[in-house]
Amino acid sequence: MQRILIVEDEEKIARFVELELQHEGYSAEKAQDGRTGLDKALSEPFDLILLDVMLPQLNGLEVLRRLRQKKATPVILLTARDAVMDKVSGLDAGADDYVTKPFAIEELLARIRVALKKKAAPATETEKLTAHGVELDVDRHEVTVHGEPVELTNREFSLLRHLMQNKNLVLSREHLLQEICGYDYVGETNAIDVYVRYLRTKIDDRYGIKLITTVRGVGYAIKE
Ligand code: CA
Repeated sequence: MQRILIVEDEEKIARFVELELQHEGYSAEKAQDGRTGLDKALSEPFDLILLDVMLPQLNGLEVLRRLRQKKATPVILLTARDAVMDKVSGLDAGADDYVTKPFAIEELLARIRVALKKKAAPATETEKLTAHGVELDVDRHEVTVHGEPVELTNREFSLLRHLMQNKNLVLSREHLLQEICGYDYVGETNAIDVYVRYLRTKIDDRYGIKLITTVRGVGYAIKE
């Protein structure tokens, strides 16, 4: 399920957008000020962020600037009607798109779909993720360790890809389970531990590296 963060201090708008997003099948979370929004955006994996410009604590453009120093999560800015400067500086600061308030929800949803699609199919360049000598080619569905190919099952591959895409973030078992096995997965809740064990057998043990870190009581991370 795709996760969207709504950073908006006007509770009514935030709540309305949240309900619409949930209705469309997204998982939505809210933050009411810029600082909380930035913290969430940096510490949790989101597929997209809706970012109001006029925010208490830290304004939207500042949030965006600081976010872009660390992450490329797609951002749609919510700007005031006549704030041409906001749009320009927003796009300069790395926003993917903007929607002018007051917006029609259908327009916002359409922009969200476009931004998510762009994210899913990054132009033509192939995406290669690396950590500890492990290289994962997203498009070719290949993993190599120090140049040597490693055979992984689909789920092992998805788990590794997800951890590598969110390098240095600790991901909970529940989150990983949803990502790897699907939202309505019913089965052993320790499935993720099992896949991590397989990955460790195939990669860590064989090549003598420490790729996946267990964060006790929380989940797993690839740290570098
Ligand atoms: Ca506002």
